[in-house]
Amino acid sequence: MSRILIIGAGLAGLSSALMLHEQGHTVTIVSRGIGGLLLSNGTIDILGWEEGTKNTSPVHNLPSSLSAFIANNPNHPYASIGTQNVFDGVKWLVNNVELFKCTDKDPEFLNTNVLMPTAVGAVRPTAAVPLSMKSSVLEDGKKYLVVGLNRLKDFPVQLIADNLSRSPFVDISARAISIDLPIRGGKEHDATGTTHARSFDEGLNSHERSALIEAIKRELKDDECVLIPAILGLDPHTFVEMEAEIRTSVGEIPLPPPSVPGRRINDILTVACREARIDIQLNAVATGFISDGNKVTAVKVQRAGRVSEVKADFIVDAAGGYESGNLARDSYGVIKESIFDLPIFTPEVSDKDFHAEAIYRTGVRVNETMNPVDSEGNVLFSNLYCLGDCIGGALPWEEKSGEGITLGSAWAATQAIKTGNEEL
Ligand SMILES: Cc1cc2nc3c(=O)[nH]c(=O)nc-3n(C[C@H](O)[C@H](O)[C@H](O)COP(=O)(O)OP(=O)(O)OC[C@H]3O[C@@H](n4cnc5c(N)ncnc54)[C@H](O)[C@@H]3O)c2cc1C
Repeated sequence: MSRILIIGAGLAGLSSALMLHEQGHTVTIVSRGIGGLLLSNGTIDILGWEEGTKNTSPVHNLPSSLSAFIANNPNHPYASIGTQNVFDGVKWLVNNVELFKCTDKDPEFLNTNVLMPTAVGAVRPTAAVPLSMKSSVLEDGKKYLVVGLNRLKDFPVQLIADNLSRSPFVDISARAISIDLPIRGGKEHDATGTTHARSFDEGLNSHERSALIEAIKRELKDDECVLIPAILGLDPHTFVEMEAEIRTSVGEIPLPPPSVPGRRINDILTVACREARIDIQLNAVATGFISDGNKVTAVKVQRAGRVSEVKADFIVDAAGGYESGNLARDSYGVIKESIFDLPIFTPEVSDKDFHAEAIYRTGVRVNETMNPVDSEGNVLFSNLYCLGDCIGGALPWEEKSGEGITLGSAWAATQAIKTGNEEL
């Protein structure tokens, strides 16, 4: 079995580390810091909109829409990853993160998207939701009570209820209530979602927890489901207990970052890595590499005050894109990949009126095994694999494709490493 070095501790890095550990490899993660899961909605987006933009219709039949999208977008990462790897990667996650287990048993799972409310009352499609958002899935004819908290910012409850009630995508009715819930004994006036979640985690003795439950029960009508900001505990059990006490269906709506549902996934994956004895080294920045022919033999890693060379048989570059600092554009407009100086692919963008779109679509180009390639398609390093946000050609937050690309590329690369290892 091989020594594998993974760069990055986002969804790509943590998932691929666990996938490779399952194959029996010795895996080490070096990362500048924690990854983008704390910015994530906590849902699994594969493809939200038919042509990847919001002015087209929401995807209903996921497999056929994804195949059509790949045929129409040959430079998109999905064209290299392929639909099977996307679905296999997502299935791996839902089978390994217990938040999602219920979804996998649903016969519609990965066949069709569901429609979810956002924190401004817009409606967005997604492929899989955790248990805490199962009742947030909007269904025609249903009535919703949208619960806001006065001391929690970024959840304009009346706007959310009004926007949902007039959505062109679903026919529902929603009304709003706002509850004044002093958090931490009233010490917090603008408490974040994370602070609320921590206070509800304190178990049945939490005064905040029982005050919220009683206030909701007083307002709730028999035929209503509750929609509430995604703050019902960092611990997933808290949501389950609170929903049972409210005695009706409760669904969370993701908030702007820091995201409690994203953090739950991050925590579960991180704990699983620790239990698997995968060494996660934070504040460890990959700054360069050493190669022998077309193989990377070691990565230079900077930790406080010194740079060391970490040797590995296979290297997984899961260091993300612009948001994580792996891709950067200098004052001359030159875009660079920071560790391996890989060539940057800038796709043609048909609608040129938004220059930033072309920039955000730039990134590394990969083949079907996730090895980085040059503009002619030649593999640059045969034991280097690029995953997730560092791959160019996509606008994940617009297309709603981020987790599909990330998990699909992780699955494709780990299967290639498995095959490569068998051939060694
Ligand atoms: C604000 C925001 C909103 C988004 N919304 C959506 C959405 O609604 N739908 C959707 O589908 N997608 C969305 N995305 C995209 C989605 O979040 C990404 O596709 C996904 O997080 C990619 O994960 P990753 O692991 O590749 O990268 P990241 O999560 O960015 O992880 C990169 C990791 O690499 C580390 N790192 C970086 N450089 C180095 C280095 N030199 N050495 C060591 N470590 C390094 C970082 O510290 C980090 O741990 C959004 C992204 C952002 C930023």
